[in-house]
Amino acid sequence: MALTSRDPHTKPPHRSLERDLAPTHRLEEKGLGGELAYEAISNELLLDGSARLNLATFVTTWMPSHAATLMAQTADKNMIDKDEYPQTAAIEARCVKIIANLWHAPEGESSTGCSTTGSSEAVMLGALALKWRWRERMRAAGKPTDKPNLVTGANVQVCWEKFCRYWDVEPRLVPMEGKRYHLNAEEAVKHCDENTIGVAAVLGSTFDGSYEPVKKIAAALDAFQASSGIDVPLHVDAASGGFVAPFIQPTLEWDFRIPRVQSINASGHKYGLVYPGVGWAIWRNAEALPKELIFDVNYLGGHMPTFALNFSRPGSEVIAQYYMFTSLGHEGYREIQQRSSEVAQYLATEIAKIGPYELISDGSELPVFAFTLRPEIVNYTVFDVSARLRGRGWQVPAYYFPKNRDDLAVLRIVVRFGMNFEMADMFLDDLREHTQRLQDLSAPLPPTHAQDSGFAH
Ligand SMILES: *Cc1c(COP(=O)(O)O)cnc(C)c1O
Repeated sequence: MALTSRDPHTKPPHRSLERDLAPTHRLEEKGLGGELAYEAISNELLLDGSARLNLATFVTTWMPSHAATLMAQTADKNMIDKDEYPQTAAIEARCVKIIANLWHAPEGESSTGCSTTGSSEAVMLGALALKWRWRERMRAAGKPTDKPNLVTGANVQVCWEKFCRYWDVEPRLVPMEGKRYHLNAEEAVKHCDENTIGVAAVLGSTFDGSYEPVKKIAAALDAFQASSGIDVPLHVDAASGGFVAPFIQPTLEWDFRIPRVQSINASGHKYGLVYPGVGWAIWRNAEALPKELIFDVNYLGGHMPTFALNFSRPGSEVIAQYYMFTSLGHEGYREIQQRSSEVAQYLATEIAKIGPYELISDGSELPVFAFTLRPEIVNYTVFDVSARLRGRGWQVPAYYFPKNRDDLAVLRIVVRFGMNFEMADMFLDDLREHTQRLQDLSAPLPPTHAQDSGFAH
């Protein structure tokens, strides 16, 4: 773990050249010089897994070389210096408009938004806006404001629990039940009351790639308002789905076409097809984003509103996002996401045919699916399958589902730009071979330690 460092007095018995050369605990008096430092560090990084064989991450692992060039050219521009880099600021504003339009922000309404470092920051901003608005409503009604809560499914990404802990909001995580692996309308409403700052629906659960029924949740909240007078806003965490659904499920209504949806976030560095470091938060209109949360920075003698948790960050990722929008267009994004979806569904179909596996989802919503072992398989677990694939370089995580299905352990595959049918076939060959060897076991394997460790989505 990055937070703990090895005791400097206990040196590893076997020390590689790089370890001798590169600093591990303090800044050395003399540097290595540029060339040697480069060699030492790039050699050490060979020990990292190969990004292209990583079927675990949602984050972009391949971009065209022009994008990498543009990113290198703009790494020195600070996003926050809007007056020094007005063109970078203008490009960020264009991206916000493009995304708001993609998500059907109503014409004539004052939709607004910003870039962030990722969906986690975007979620913090969206949820803070919900908290501020709730507090205003309660104050106006002369009611106490000390017990806010937020309703989500137990399948939410950890950033929602982070928000709740950091900003003192009670998380109401609706457990899974039976074959329901995400939030539904009925359960969402059951958990709401006048202290609910909002409901967050996920477009693309990290656990199995399924979409939560945003439209049904919104309709149930409409009915709840009609009967109770309590108006609960809806935020959509579309970290992955925000750049998938508009292209390959265009008729699915999950976005600003639904009036109750007040804000949406997505990760530019997931299906937005940009290397890590960019997310987006969009509000349907000015009323959805309380003015008190916005800070003015000087912009060419004028004022530029900003809403962010951090301050300085490179312009590269936003420029890369704009490059992808510009070079691919709607058609390019559609083709790429369609291909990923086809590869995911092909993999799911073939995995189901192997025999011992049972699909939890099939890759038809996000190009992501989870599968488990049939209950009669007792000699090995999904953790053993994951470890064997790792030996071949494939990273396929195994993990348990959350409450009330923490009995269910699955493997998950995320298909992204760069994973083609040829790679899928290579993967399937390896999976079939290792599954056969595990099937041939005559007695159960001992439990692996991976079984006890949590998996961060
Ligand atoms: C990845 C993800 C997040 C966090 O996004 P980052 O961009 O990694 O900060 C939040 N919610 C969902 C549904 C996700 O898939």
